[in-house]
Amino acid sequence: MRIKILGSAAGGGFPQWNCNCRNCRFSREGSLRSKPRTQTQVAICQDNRAWFLLNASPDLRTQIEATPVLHPRNHGRNSPIGGVLLTSGDIDQVAGLLSLRELQRFRIYCTLSIRRILQEDNSLFAMLNRVPDQVSWTDIGCDGNFCLQALPERGAGINCSVFSLGNRFPAYVSRERVASLKQEDALLGVIATSSAGKRFAYLAAVPVVDDSLLERLEEADLLLFDGTFWSDDELIRVQGSGSTAQEMGHIPVSGPEGSLRKLAGLQKPRKIFVHVNNTNPMLDESGPEYAEVRAAGWEVAEDDWSLEL
Ligand SMILES: [Zn+2]
Repeated sequence: MRIKILGSAAGGGFPQWNCNCRNCRFSREGSLRSKPRTQTQVAICQDNRAWFLLNASPDLRTQIEATPVLHPRNHGRNSPIGGVLLTSGDIDQVAGLLSLRELQRFRIYCTLSIRRILQEDNSLFAMLNRVPDQVSWTDIGCDGNFCLQALPERGAGINCSVFSLGNRFPAYVSRERVASLKQEDALLGVIATSSAGKRFAYLAAVPVVDDSLLERLEEADLLLFDGTFWSDDELIRVQGSGSTAQEMGHIPVSGPEGSLRKLAGLQKPRKIFVHVNNTNPMLDESGPEYAEVRAAGWEVAEDDWSLEL
């Protein structure tokens, strides 16, 4: 299975257009030992034919153009992108769907709750179904297994298992709508298993780590994990206001309740942080936070990384 990291930053990207924090300022000046990053986007492929996107970032159009394996291969309009698996309804995970509206046939895998939010409450997404042979929506439970398939029906050699990671829907979803939805549908983790039985765990947003999650992750060969914030009060300290990491649904990297500590016992998987917010000090490769992460056996994802399982 081939895994491409097309984008590795949290919402807003790095640097973020309206942010002049130390990281963003020094990044623009070229004096930070760190690469700019687009918003988190991952694509996977097993059969060298169909690629599947894990979510659809707001930067998707430029990410596809920067990635030759995702370019059309035949005359006229076509794409090797066979489908998109949505793990939440967050704007950063779904906005890129609107850049895929040019009458291309592909699948969208998501929970029934996310489909209802997009299809019934947000009419922009009707552009994905202007003609009969366009997007095919496939409901996946919040806890189950399925095989990724390109259209027309063709197995792509990747088995996915999904599980609920949280019960909070995005802020743009109305209170009335939330009351009608299954809460466990709000946020999924994904484990994609290759035809050779290798497991890739993808968890770009993790509100809490419990024992059952640790058991799942110990089975993985590769882990891409929520690296949004270094500390719980990071945004408040940098911006002077805002929410804590926990309030935003992200376990921080550092601290007694942070992911470095909580996941320290994982032996098997290669561990990589993704979805890194522009304020996170571990983006600075000359800083102590980056050194701490590397010493703990973790890597910090960059755009355009290619991984193989
Ligand atoms: Zn910033």
